[in-house]
Amino acid sequence: MSFLSQGFSPDIVRALTECGYEKLTPVQQQAIPHARRGQDILAHAQTGTGKTAAFSLPIIQQIIDEPKPRSRANVRALILAPTRELVDQISKNIESYTQYIDVNVVAVFGGAKMSSQERKLEKGVDVLVATPGRLIEHMELGNVSFANLDFLVFDEADRMLDMGFIGAIRTIMSGVVGHPQTMLFSATSSPQMNALAQDLLRKPKRVIVNAENSTAETVAHVVYPVDEDRKRELLSELIGRKNWQQVLVFVNYKETANEVVKELKLDGINAVLCHGDKAQSARRRALEEFKSGKARVMVATEVAARGLDIQGLPHVVNYDMPFLAEDYVHRIGRTGRAGQQGHAVSFVSREEELTLVQIENLIQQRIKRVQLAGYEPANRDALLVKMQSKPAYKDRQGRTNNADDQGNAERRLRLMRAIKNKSSKTTRLKK
Ligand code: AMP
Repeated sequence: MSFLSQGFSPDIVRALTECGYEKLTPVQQQAIPHARRGQDILAHAQTGTGKTAAFSLPIIQQIIDEPKPRSRANVRALILAPTRELVDQISKNIESYTQYIDVNVVAVFGGAKMSSQERKLEKGVDVLVATPGRLIEHMELGNVSFANLDFLVFDEADRMLDMGFIGAIRTIMSGVVGHPQTMLFSATSSPQMNALAQDLLRKPKRVIVNAENSTAETVAHVVYPVDEDRKRELLSELIGRKNWQQVLVFVNYKETANEVVKELKLDGINAVLCHGDKAQSARRRALEEFKSGKARVMVATEVAARGLDIQGLPHVVNYDMPFLAEDYVHRIGRTGRAGQQGHAVSFVSREEELTLVQIENLIQQRIKRVQLAGYEPANRDALLVKMQSKPAYKDRQGRTNNADDQGNAERRLRLMRAIKNKSSKTTRLKK
């Protein structure tokens, strides 16, 4: 299906052709016709499916079909996204789609100067792309108003909920007059997500690109069972031996990210860091170096890498398994994008086996295990001894995996038994 057949103006189609877009992706095929008819949309689609164009092209076309005076009190479309990186990416995409037409896009997000954003807002905005926190600051200062909003988009809505933006969303909604056409995009679904959708959307058309909570079909998943303390060596070994050229590595902690980058560099592999302690400019520079191929590896924490669009990314490595199975879906959404083959590799220590089982249940797929000779994990008894002697760490909910009292030792033993049972159940899952 071509973009011209969807009634987009030749100037938009010309820009899309220059972006390399010839045909609509599945999410675009499903969402664009409804969006063009002015309907609300609830879409389950992950990053990499072409969702940005799916929601933004109908908005852009409508803005040029029905021009209105441009001012900061006349924002036509508001697009909310959870992170500054995603906001930056969405606004850049829209700028490239609108390069031959007169549509003004402004991005506002935290970590950048208020004053320069204020100046842009003062000039008038057609499409505003924003993170919730910074947007509220601008609303409170009267820098922008949504009295005449025609379109409202929530991108990665599940992420916004995870990050605790529900209050911020309600504050923003209290400043929105009437009911703009609203589109909500989310990679995963949950009861909280459904409740939000019910509040925000009017008779929405549902768009489901993959089965809910499933991962892109073009991704090959592989698990390397390995002990925690051998992961660093394994990473260098695989990158070198398999000659992986562009590798996004996810870790759970900033400290791990720092260590992994240091080790990779010692092994002669050029790696950059992307985590929350890094300034926005440093993160952007790291991303540029990674995208351009100057850096072969980018090591990132979940929050920092959320929503990043790195075109044609061939390899994603879960150096640590995510705390939540849903995060696996988000992480590997960086690879296998827009129809290209991707490769998702997970390093799974014995301690992380339970998460692996949860992930397999979520994506309804058994992930292939590959054992690299020399990296076989030690046996379970050795693991128990090691777990008891290791310092505790805390996950996002503040749960510790290893306190040293007797009760916890017993809990761990029960957990290990549960893992064993679950693992034997998993082997029955479909290959
Ligand atoms: P998104 O899911 O919006 O982050 O898009 C993922 C990637 O697919 C981005 O690099 C887009 O530029 C690209 N893309 C989006 N739509 C198309 C299309 N119709 N044809 C080719 N590439 C596309």
